[in-house]
Amino acid sequence: MGLLEGKNALVFGVANKRSIAWGITAAMQREGATIGLSYAGEVLEKRVLPLAAENNIDFVEKCDVTSDDDIDALFAKAKDTFGTIDILVHAVAFAGRDNLGGRFRDISRDGFKLTMDISAYSLIPLARHAAEIMPDGGSIMALSYYAAEKVLPRYNVMAIAKAALENIVRYLAVDLGPHDIRVNTLSPGPIKTLAAAGVPGFRTMLSHANKINPIRDTATIEDVGEVAVFLASDGARMITGETIHIDGGYHTLGLTVTEDDID
Ligand code: NAD
Repeated sequence: MGLLEGKNALVFGVANKRSIAWGITAAMQREGATIGLSYAGEVLEKRVLPLAAENNIDFVEKCDVTSDDDIDALFAKAKDTFGTIDILVHAVAFAGRDNLGGRFRDISRDGFKLTMDISAYSLIPLARHAAEIMPDGGSIMALSYYAAEKVLPRYNVMAIAKAALENIVRYLAVDLGPHDIRVNTLSPGPIKTLAAAGVPGFRTMLSHANKINPIRDTATIEDVGEVAVFLASDGARMITGETIHIDGGYHTLGLTVTEDDID
């Protein structure tokens, strides 16, 4: 019997089969969860709809997380379809190219607001709606990155949004804990996805992490899926408000000189 047998999961953030949300979806499905997918908008339909069909996922709904109407409609449909849910995955982020890279001090007011709205604030209404259809408790998880904790030059506006997101996770964990709803952050190292392609210097980050991570490798969407399954399972019932790094130990390092670098 799968670890998530009998559980319903709503997953936000599949853009294509390289998405972290897709790695999570596949792992949760393997463990017996029934999945509902939500994607951002029409431009993604041609990738997300076939992916869902190939994998027997019937619930596939558009939801722009900047729209309260979209969120209301999505959760009304989820309630009609599933009755109750057990798992919510927030794997959604956006920043305009002009506010990623470049000088930190040039971040624009509009760019800041939009990035915060999509990448951080959206977890609050999604969690509120999810909690209403989680009468038996549940597991909510959001995707963050180490730039929330330490300065990673060029990550700029997204770093601020991730710091906010991780704090939102902790506040939601306290707010929803008495309802047996756990809220956690998954923080993977760099993975080549559509969103990552917008981070200047991403390829160099990836090869650098590969070289210096204590585990000499970088995370995959499958690695994130396995941790997400555990967090969603009953075995994780006492874990909430946590940030779980899936980065081969990168976050433990200070100034690092590998054996290869010693001259
Ligand atoms: P991705 O591009 O596949 O996923 C990002 C998703 O956000 C897309 O599906 C996109 O449609 C969605 N999105 C953007 N604006 C939206 C809106 N207004 N409404 C609804 N959805 C919207 O890339 P990914 O790397 O899989 O990103 C998933 C999450 O993982 C993000 O939060 C990202 O910051 C985080 N993350 C990524 C990495 C990495 O290296 N790829 C590392 C750590 C954390």
